[in-house]
Amino acid sequence: MKTEGVNLNPPEDIRSIIDSLFKFIDTEIVPLEKENKKYLDNEADMYEPSGYLKKEVIELRKYVRKKSASAGFLSMFVPESLGGMGLGPLASVYINIALHARYGPGRPLITPGKGLLITPLISGFVDGPSPVIEEMSDELKKAYLPLLLSGDKTLCFALSEPEAGSDIWSLKTRAEKRGKSWVINGLKQWITNGPYADFAVVFAVTDPDMLKQRKGGITAFFVEKERGWKVQSVIPYLGHFGSDTAILSFDNVEVPESHIIGEVNVGFFKAMQGIDIGRLAIGAICAGLSEWALNESIEYSKQRKAFGNPISEYQAIQFMLADSYIDTYTSQVLAIHCGWKAENSDTLPVKEISSVKAYCVEACQRVFDRAIQIFGGMGLTNELRLQDGWRLARTYRIPDGTSEIQRRTIARRLLKGDTKIL
Ligand SMILES: Cc1cc2nc3c(=O)[nH]c(=O)nc-3n(C[C@H](O)[C@H](O)[C@H](O)COP(=O)(O)OP(=O)(O)OC[C@H]3O[C@@H](n4cnc5c(N)ncnc54)[C@H](O)[C@@H]3O)c2cc1C
Repeated sequence: MKTEGVNLNPPEDIRSIIDSLFKFIDTEIVPLEKENKKYLDNEADMYEPSGYLKKEVIELRKYVRKKSASAGFLSMFVPESLGGMGLGPLASVYINIALHARYGPGRPLITPGKGLLITPLISGFVDGPSPVIEEMSDELKKAYLPLLLSGDKTLCFALSEPEAGSDIWSLKTRAEKRGKSWVINGLKQWITNGPYADFAVVFAVTDPDMLKQRKGGITAFFVEKERGWKVQSVIPYLGHFGSDTAILSFDNVEVPESHIIGEVNVGFFKAMQGIDIGRLAIGAICAGLSEWALNESIEYSKQRKAFGNPISEYQAIQFMLADSYIDTYTSQVLAIHCGWKAENSDTLPVKEISSVKAYCVEACQRVFDRAIQIFGGMGLTNELRLQDGWRLARTYRIPDGTSEIQRRTIARRLLKGDTKIL
């Protein structure tokens, strides 16, 4: 019996947003990228020896952020209550897949890579307004939201510490009430956008007993850079010359009560709101990048000759292409289905989001690894950006919950009775 089937293609309204985003990038950003090739192609020219982006690159990224804000893209996924377009999780999946499948990794004005996890085109929970700051005081919203929405300023999301990564219950950063203020002391590590942010959303322990019992005890604060937090250093990783990730220090940084986001002692639950959105977006980015690498692999295998034939005629290459297709197809179906579920459920589908994060990231690394193999020596060159994609996928296995933590989350849900598959 024939049925209508499951239509996984983007609906018309999202398709038209994707088309206008592509038009915006092709007319406004790609020419800028070409003009500034000398700063953007090679990490040795992008970063200072300290690991900071060069001032020219910071300026270019800010310019793109502001352009993207004027064109309406920067805050696409920001809730309407905060002044954004309010596109939901399903739109985020479709748009991220399409964007990354078309432009590929490592284009500092358009896509992540080259040590940069965030792009200036679309803001996310680690650098812009998101449900994490929805419960900010009206006073703060009035003062800072317009600056974030216009792309003039950015923030960072400072949760992890040297002794607290997967295990957030080990946080050491303390916030103590003194009179009408809170005083924050501690060190935050691995903070994306930390080197360049104007504000930090900082998570600090406010009730050590609650923390010990894992019942809460963590509070989220909104802290402007002028209040005294410092970038201790940028952390270059995985062979990059620099990055957008930093160690931040808080040494008696004082903020008024109005800088608490939401309620005292429930900051952990706020943090998870951002992290869950981030996990789905990372999955979708990877599902798109896999498509890009698969297409590059198909094209090259048809052109490159060895032993008198295009290498696409050899079964060893065909099997790699087929395996990469299987990885890409499953990643995209998984991410789209989960985006749909997130959009249409009252509570976030946690085990499904963890499945997307773990699966799409790991699949993407496999697809880039095969692409490099299919390209032979050329695959290893910096020029082709396959290594950018491989390094990015390898990186994504750690932030926003490692692959092991995603599996832990899935298993815990299954064992608690959440065994529904679709
Ligand atoms: C590039 C990058 C950007 C980041 N950006 C941010 C950011 O913007 N803001 C922020 O707050 N943090 C950020 N992080 C921090 C990130 O969230 C942590 O690195 C991550 O949660 C892992 O913590 P960890 O590095 O301390 O590793 P650990 O938690 O020490 O883990 C070490 C190993 O043990 C495993 N492990 C730990 N617990 C378990 C368990 N219960 N069961 C099985 N295995 C386990 C882990 O999977 C891992 O393999 C970023 C990290 C990176 C690398």
